[in-house]
Parts: sequence; C-alpha cells; structure tokens
Amino acid sequence: MYLEHSGPVEDEQKRIFQKPALNEGVLVRNDGTVVAADEWYYDFVQTSSGLSLCELIAPEDGDGLHRQLEDLAKERDYDRREPGTLLGEYLTRLENRLGDVVEHAYLRLESTRETEGRRPLFRILVSDLQRMQTLEAFRRQLLSKYRFFMTLKNELYFEYRPSDEHFVVYKYINGTSFRIEDTDIFEYLRRVHEPMAEKDPNYAQGIRTFLSYMKKEEPSFEMNVRYQPEDGEAMTARIVGGVPAGVPDMVAGIYIPSQELKNEAYYLTPAAKDPGTGLLNKRAVTEYAMEMLPTIEEGEIAWLLIIDIDDFKSINDNFGHAFGDEVIKYVADTLQKEVGTRGFAGRFGGDEFFVFLNRIRTRDDLKLLLKTVTKQFLIKFDTRFVLTCSVGVSCYPQDGATLEELFAKADKALYIAKEKGKNRHIIYDPKLHGDLGSESIQSQAVSYAISAERRREVLGRIMLGMCEQGAAYFVENRDHLRDLRTIFDLDGITIVTDFGGKALCRDGKYVTKPNLDLLVSECETVFTRKENSGKYVENNILMQKDVHPELYQGLYVQQEIGACIVCAEFVGALPHTMMTFDIFNKTRKWSDKDMDMLCLIGQTITKLLCKQ
Ligand code: GH3
Ligand code: MG
Repeated sequence: MYLEHSGPVEDEQKRIFQKPALNEGVLVRNDGTVVAADEWYYDFVQTSSGLSLCELIAPEDGDGLHRQLEDLAKERDYDRREPGTLLGEYLTRLENRLGDVVEHAYLRLESTRETEGRRPLFRILVSDLQRMQTLEAFRRQLLSKYRFFMTLKNELYFEYRPSDEHFVVYKYINGTSFRIEDTDIFEYLRRVHEPMAEKDPNYAQGIRTFLSYMKKEEPSFEMNVRYQPEDGEAMTARIVGGVPAGVPDMVAGIYIPSQELKNEAYYLTPAAKDPGTGLLNKRAVTEYAMEMLPTIEEGEIAWLLIIDIDDFKSINDNFGHAFGDEVIKYVADTLQKEVGTRGFAGRFGGDEFFVFLNRIRTRDDLKLLLKTVTKQFLIKFDTRFVLTCSVGVSCYPQDGATLEELFAKADKALYIAKEKGKNRHIIYDPKLHGDLGSESIQSQAVSYAISAERRREVLGRIMLGMCEQGAAYFVENRDHLRDLRTIFDLDGITIVTDFGGKALCRDGKYVTKPNLDLLVSECETVFTRKENSGKYVENNILMQKDVHPELYQGLYVQQEIGACIVCAEFVGALPHTMMTFDIFNKTRKWSDKDMDMLCLIGQTITKLLCKQ
C-alpha cells in the first residue's frame, strides 16, 4: 500500500498519486453515482459512472454522504446557492476496486449549477492529505536547506510570498538571521524606493521589472540596479533570484551590492561577533534589539532575558580558566541552538548572556524554553559539577517601551533570582518586585526590599487568615496556594493528611505523588536529614535513587521533581500530616531564609491540620 511503501513506487501508484491537486473533481447525482469526472477520478472510480462514490469511502461516511446528497437535492433553494459553496466535509478513507487506497482522504462537497434532467448535480473534490503532508514536509526541508546555503554567503537575501505579498529581507551572520525588512512588499516599495523612483524614470522602470519577477513571471532572473541614495554616492547592485525548487509559492534570491554598504549597521559587521563564543557582543545585541522593538506589532510581545552563570568563579577556581571558557562556549551554543529562529542570543561579557525573544507568545512557552535550557545545562557536566544559571526576564511592552527600561527590569529580576538562591528564573512582576518608573530607576537593593515587603504581605495575609479560619483558609483557596508558589518559586505544593491515600490539596504542575506506604514504613530513612526539631527534611531526590528506587522513579523520572522540602507532623513515630514544596530540577538551592520560612509555613499548616 502507498503509505507503507518504502521501495520504488510502482508505476500504477505513481500514476495515481502524482496527479496534481484537481479543481474539477467528480460530478455526482444525488445517489452518489458518477456523472462525470476528470482524469484522476476516472482512474480512481475506474471510469465506471455506474459506481457510487459513496461506496468507495469508509462505510459510515459513505452512508452519511449518501443521505446528505439526497437531502440537498430536495432542498427548495438549492439552485440559488452560489456554485462552489461548501456543503459538507469528510475526512475518510477512499479505496477503489483495484485496491488503491487513499488512507487520509479529505472530501469536499460543493454546490454546482449543473443539472441532469433538471435535477441538481453535486461536485466532490478529494485531496490526499497524507500526500499533501509529505509534500509539505519535503518543501519545508528544501526551504531550510536553501536558507542554510544562504547563510554561508554574506549577502542580503530576500523572500517573497506572492500569496500574501509578504516580503522579507534577511542577513545571516553566525547562524543568526537578522530581519532587515519584514513587511508587505508594497509598503516596502513605498517607503524605501518610491522617493527615488519619483526622481528617476530608470529607477521606476527597475522597480516595475523587479515586481514582475516577484509575480513569478520568470522561473529565474538576474538584474542590475543602479540607484542614488539621498545622502550618498551612486550604487549598483545585482539581484539574482527565482522560484526555489520545491517551494512554488515563493520567490527568493540574493541582493549583492557592488560595494559594501557604507552605513551598514554595526551588528551586521564582523566586529559585532564575540570572539570566544561567536555570539553577538553587547553593543551588537543592544543595537539590534533597539531596532527590533519598534517592529513588534500591536498585540505582539517580546521577552528580554539576562542570563548569568551561577558561581562561575568557583568553576574557574576549581577547574581552571580554559575549562571555564569551555563552559561559556557550551552555554552560548546551547542558547543559540534553543533560541533558534525565535529570537537571538548575545554575550554581554564574562559569564553574562542576553536573549531577545520575539517569537515566543506565551509565558508557558517561555518557561518551556527555559526548562529545556536548564536541562541541557544539568546533564552536560554532571559528573564534575552542576552547571546552573540565573535568569531575569522582562517583557515588552508591558514592562517598558524602551530597551533601557526593559534591561533595568530584567536586571532587577536577575538580581532577585541570585538573591533567592540562584538556579532559577524570575519574570519581572511589578506587583511582586516593585514598580520601576523609567525616570527613577531605583537601586537593586531597594527593589529587593520591595519584593521582600510584598512577600511579608502575602505571608502575613495567609498566616492571619489561618489564625482566624483555620487551615482551610489556605488549603481551600487556590489563590493563596498560587501566591505562595510565586513568591518562593515553587513548582508544586502538596498536602497529604491522615495518610488515607489521598492528597488533601495539590497546586502546580509538579506535585509529589507521595508513596505513602513507603513513607510510613520507611519514614526513618526517608526523613534522613531531620532538622529543626525533626519536622522537616530537604530532599534531593537524586540521592534517593539507590535507597528508595520507587520514590526516585515516581518523583524524578516521571515527574522531574528534583528536590522537595517535606514538612511533617508526627503522631508517635509515624507522620500524620505532610506538606511538600516541590521544584522540578534537582539542584535548586534555597536560601537559608527561604528554607526557614517554608518550614515555618509547612509546620504551621501541618500542625493545624493534625489537630483538626
Ligand atoms: P554568581 O552566581 O553570583 O553569578 O557568582 P559568579 O561566581 O558567577 O560571579 P560573577 O558572575 O560575578 O563572576 C564572573 C566571573 O567570570 C569573573 C571572572 O573571573 C570570570 N570570567 C569572566 N570572563 C571570563 C572568560 O571569558 N573566561 C573565563 N574562564 N572566566 C571569565
Ligand atoms: Mg555569575
């Protein structure tokens, strides 16, 4: 069968599947019998107009189609419908009497003006979705190959999609693509070329020729253009382009100026590259980000990330500078790879990096990206040390319209991430971290104090509420759970009581599913590091791998919880109520202050619940 076919495609199959998409389709009567069909369909229904198309598709769809055709034929206003109106759609399987199969057939039923003895006829169009997908994948592959080769050159290149008039001019440097233009072609011509075309008829003619090429009037073309910028010398350039093989809905090519553009942006010059990592240097990323901000459309957003490696000095101290350089290169490569075409990455200097993301639309997608990066760091040097970083994030436009403001906020968020114990990302939030007006950028210490203030406020509210209303105040209110998770950067909170096997409450994506039997029977060993009057334990789940493989399997392998703080209230030797604070990777460090706070909360809540 076609779908499983891996060897050379048989001629017959070729004949069936290589026919281009049809716009004629099959004309059928209201009982589904074929009246007329173009070539592909005749092949498929074996030219047998006595055959009902309904019988060739999966039986349940066939019956449905049959009924629908009959009903439509009875409709009084049928002949008033515009021909080509969509009447019904089917995703089905199509099989002819020779055994030829279209596994994923899309049937589109349309109205027509055609009739037979005054009775209306219907048109059915069939597309082979599988084949279309394969084609699409193939085309995408070709396109990325084509783009890759373009990156090897140092020219500008353009792509144009006639279907929506979208015109993009790129320049690739060090694997990063810079969009110099990303707009409607007419808008581009109006803005960039019209002023000059007005003065020079030859220039205007050049633009007309270029436009005719963009309309795919030639499969390939070359043209020379000469123009005189307002404020510079006359220039000549060569444009070479055409329709890339396998990408029929695109015109693409390169633009080769005869001399280097004099006022080329700094970020496009070789000097913009950081020699150690190949990323853009600080000046380059700043300038490029500054140019990108105004191009972000209304309703769209961008993220700014400042990333700093944790305890990098000790990496240098313990393993030497050369190894430190290797780590920096690895971080740079990972960022570059993971960011891909969703933005760009640069190195600010030392162990500090910058990432600008303009193609990530949601917080969740951002978190996913950060999680992937974190994981790559974790696995790389595992046997020698654990590579982690802290990340401060701000968001355009909500955190500021200027790069300066966005930097200040991302930087502040980074500072807080470090302060909270490193190895985490903090997305700037004015409610939590204090508002930073651009006119009065407060010192980081002050802003951290504000965040501590906000934290006290949240904790105070929760504690007070519990004094008045008991543990239910916290346990039954998602907002409180979420607030607590936010201010302590927790990925999950779980409370189990009575050990009846069911968690009392859970919040967050990553929550422990405690293996209660194990905890009860082995609580002595699980609570290995009883501290603070034997009531809590900070657990690195990785350390449980050999001691309690089930716990390790359930928490780390299945849920990626790498560490948790467990607080428990005991009745006799057994835990009665337990509260866990979870984080997804294994090395998050809590600051001593946070640890104390979390334990205090955990103990208060478990105590209250135990008494109930
Ligand atoms: P923190 O977690 O607070 O970020 O601590 P840290 O040790 O990472 O501190 P900091 O970011 O201030 O330290 C950066 C160090 O990186 C200082 C400098 O000695 C070292 N460094 C800067 N550039 C390079 C480099 O190109 N290669 C190497 N090997 N080390 C560098
Ligand atoms: Mg550092």
